[in-house]
Amino acid sequence: MVCGDLENNLDKMRLWNMEKYMRLAIEEAKKGIEEGQTPFGACIVKGGQVICCSHNTVWKDMDITAHAEINVLRKACKKLNTIDLSECEIYSTCEPCPMCFSACHWARISKIIHGARIEDAKQVGFNEIKISNELMKKLGGLKTEIIADFMREECLELFNLWSNKEDKKSY
Ligand SMILES: [Zn+2]
Repeated sequence: MVCGDLENNLDKMRLWNMEKYMRLAIEEAKKGIEEGQTPFGACIVKGGQVICCSHNTVWKDMDITAHAEINVLRKACKKLNTIDLSECEIYSTCEPCPMCFSACHWARISKIIHGARIEDAKQVGFNEIKISNELMKKLGGLKTEIIADFMREECLELFNLWSNKEDKKSY
């Protein structure tokens, strides 16, 4: 019984931490929305330590590849001075697009946790390629762990926040 309780508490703690990391990604996305960017945020964590967070900066940088995930991968590699992020996991408010999924693969990210789905982004006007991370994983024969729909409602809310802005610009 005691052992079961301990397991239970560990699970609770793990979930609590996961929510904390996703909340950081959500806060980043909100910051981005306020700054006229698109509603996407991401966070990279290594062994329970937050390495970096970022939001999408496509419009700010006039860089079509400046997705939140690409931004955090670049930051994490610089900060950790390595291109091997195999001990890292990435939290993203939306399922990484095929470009970002591929970048995660190149960085050897072991785990992807995402909130909303590519389809949701497509629905609010982004020119997404509708290939899910699960399908990319299957087609590529990859081992990346994927946790989908994590805090989905809160992540979807970011799209509402952004949609209500008059100066919003998708791509
Ligand atoms: Zn992307």
